[in-house]
Amino acid sequence: MSRSAHPAGPRHADVFSEGHYSAPPADLNVLDPKVWSHTVRRTEDGVVTVGGLEVTALAEEFGTPAYFVDEADFRERARAWRTAFGHDADVFYAGKAFLSRAVVRWLHEEGLNLDVCSGGELATALSAGMPADRIAFHGNNKSTAEIHAAVEAGVGRIVLDSFQEIVRVAHIAQSLGRRQRVQIRVTVGVEAHTHEFIATAHEDQKFGIALADGQAAEAVRRALTLDGLELVGIHSHIGSQIFDMAGFEVAARRVVGLLAAVRDEHSVELPEIDLGGGLGIAYTSDDDPREPHEIAKALGEIVTRECEAARLSTPRISVEPGRAIVGPTAFTLYEVGTIKPLEGLRTYVSVDGGMSDNIRTALYDAEYSVALVSRTSDAEPMLARVVGKHCESGDIVVKDAFLPADLAPGDLIAVPATGAYCRSMASNYNHAPRPPVVAVKDGAARVIVRRETEDDLLRLDVG
Ligand SMILES: *Cc1c(COP(=O)(O)O)cnc(C)c1O
Repeated sequence: MSRSAHPAGPRHADVFSEGHYSAPPADLNVLDPKVWSHTVRRTEDGVVTVGGLEVTALAEEFGTPAYFVDEADFRERARAWRTAFGHDADVFYAGKAFLSRAVVRWLHEEGLNLDVCSGGELATALSAGMPADRIAFHGNNKSTAEIHAAVEAGVGRIVLDSFQEIVRVAHIAQSLGRRQRVQIRVTVGVEAHTHEFIATAHEDQKFGIALADGQAAEAVRRALTLDGLELVGIHSHIGSQIFDMAGFEVAARRVVGLLAAVRDEHSVELPEIDLGGGLGIAYTSDDDPREPHEIAKALGEIVTRECEAARLSTPRISVEPGRAIVGPTAFTLYEVGTIKPLEGLRTYVSVDGGMSDNIRTALYDAEYSVALVSRTSDAEPMLARVVGKHCESGDIVVKDAFLPADLAPGDLIAVPATGAYCRSMASNYNHAPRPPVVAVKDGAARVIVRRETEDDLLRLDVG
């Protein structure tokens, strides 16, 4: 087996270069509460617990690798968003970050709405009892069948992503005798990513309809003339893992500008504005995310100020956090296997999972933390790279981390902040059965997504 031939972009080349690590922390046994879920503790005997349960016992009962989600923490974060935005705004959890029926129930109970972007996510939401009017349907290439299913179910809104889709949704709604509530997704010319935003030509992407050149205004014109559609607002989503509110400020200003233009042209004040998701979380101790109440205050002020300036009444705001709710609430538990010290470089620590349960490091050069959780250690810190068991040199889970030098096969290590975009992006590469998701709360653990088995894999193979 060898490193496969990737289309080697700079991002992949970088994975193999020297890493960017900071100095080892003073005490490797200390778990930074910023990157671990709220109920994670280290007990006096050195074992880490979540929801009051020791990871050693959890590993025995559920196996490794496995994702453990801290249900109390999930509910707390969902509630914090809900409370921060209050009754004049809506919080839509972005289901693509991680979705299961248990999660849908938690969201429903905590008063959140839900974003879906496929027929599968819609089916999951409906099957767990999320009221259809609290579901929003997204996507740049929704199939006719998906649109049909969404309209028939009565989803609260479909977010229109192209001129073709405006017509498509209108026709399907009309054929079903419905008038579908819709928003139009616009690209405001701002794309934001970690720590920075760039206000340049980011209309160059597949999502949305550009505000520039009057495209979005034309989309509004068309949507307003079609009987099958009830246009209720404008939608903007500028990126992911954002810490700086400046990108949202530019986006809000431009969207309000469109609302004002629509009012001037059509004498219609669209009642809703959706500013999307993308709020960052702490993957390492270097990240400093904003609290939901700060975000709510900042967005509320921006929109109110811009609307006052444009003499518009303030529309109902909605936001769509995915990562910021589920990301910090879970960790992945692995068992350490082969350990390979490379003299003068680093020590490669292999675990029993890898890029099949966390593709983000290979895909985005994402950073993660890691800790020994089955015991404490007073050994010296060693520079480590946590890698998986797949047939790829790029199969890296944590690129640079310090682990104790006495780490040994059989130890359990955990990678925090893997609640978002890990299980939902998991694959069966090398026919790896995808790991389970186990919810832990108040001393009880239950599987909410079971582990795949070899039977599951073979069942699909009907040749
Ligand atoms: C992905 C996405 C989100 C959620 O993004 P996070 O970074 O998880 O908060 C919200 N809205 C839309 C339209 C998205 O595509």
